Amino acid sequence: MSEVVYLTIESSTPIRVDAISQAQPDWIHPHLIQSADPVKGRQFRVSSLVPKGACLLVDRPYAIIPVVDEPQSSDNLICSNPACNNRAVKHAERLSCPNVCIPDVAWCSRTCQDTDKLRHDFECSWLKRYASSIRAKRGEYDFGMLWVIVRLLATRRIEMCDSAPINSAIAPNCQQSIYGWQGIEALCGSSDTWSHDQVRSWTLLVKKYLQNGPVLPHGLPSERILHLICQEEANSFGLYPRETGFTSRPESLVDRGEQFAASVYPTAAIANHSCVPNIIHKPDELGRMVFRASRDILAGEECCISYFDLTRFTDLESRREHLRKSFKFVCQCERCIFDEPVKETDTWDAMPLMDGF
Ligand SMILES: [Zn+2]
Ligand SMILES: [Zn+2]
Ligand SMILES: [Zn+2]
Repeated sequence: MSEVVYLTIESSTPIRVDAISQAQPDWIHPHLIQSADPVKGRQFRVSSLVPKGACLLVDRPYAIIPVVDEPQSSDNLICSNPACNNRAVKHAERLSCPNVCIPDVAWCSRTCQDTDKLRHDFECSWLKRYASSIRAKRGEYDFGMLWVIVRLLATRRIEMCDSAPINSAIAPNCQQSIYGWQGIEALCGSSDTWSHDQVRSWTLLVKKYLQNGPVLPHGLPSERILHLICQEEANSFGLYPRETGFTSRPESLVDRGEQFAASVYPTAAIANHSCVPNIIHKPDELGRMVFRASRDILAGEECCISYFDLTRFTDLESRREHLRKSFKFVCQCERCIFDEPVKETDTWDAMPLMDGF
């Protein structure tokens, strides 16, 4: 069953968002709209009141990777089949790659492994060729980033073959695909956001590991892959077992636990950050990102998530420093503005300067 939902853009025509033809379709609340802010770019707002607790969005990952320290023994590995993404708990039924690429690749069942064959074949030779050397030379962070890129390209490949004429050899796998590459194309992420050194380092990674070729036949120019890294770095989510955000007072927060995956969500990525978010977000058991209203949200209000664990960075300075380093912006949310020390120009002494305004 395939379901079509509409994501409305203010004063424009609706964008058609095709949900995936899998067990449960994605969900976008009918009052959730996308608009554009001259400074912040794309953002979510609500067109009418949305009550506390309402589910605003359920978005499927376009690419997701497990993030665990000891893949062989970990119970936190997720099934590599993107239609599943369930925890692949370490027991007799967990299957590894027959081609022995990396231990992080696992399936929860034979069915998941079989139906994921076409997609995994795309990444398997790349993983086999480069994974251990990237891990050794560049570390886990860069490896994870590059693997997400490869999985984005794998999903794009499946999506392309899905719209190709039916071919009996590939049709069974293609039928279960997959959400829009167009959504990935629309993600923000400019190379201007990062330092020259950072961009140069990514350019070298693209040249060394991600060029179009027999090991990774994506057919895209290297500049597009570099842009894809910029987009991924600006938009990917860490997945944690507990929610990010709060429904009660921030002082009573519980941390969100240890990261077990990283993912790119084409629609959830539209949400901007606030240190007093009105949305809580948490992945469900299928790896989908779920947004819920953490309080009543009034018509016209922007809907924001928190980009970090609010229990970890509490004072203004640490919040802004973290956001500046990791997300390249200075937070101007209402909490940060409220917490700003009073500037000298705001004192009574300075008031006469305001005369004449
Ligand atoms: Zn599975
Ligand atoms: Zn493999
Ligand atoms: Zn803030």
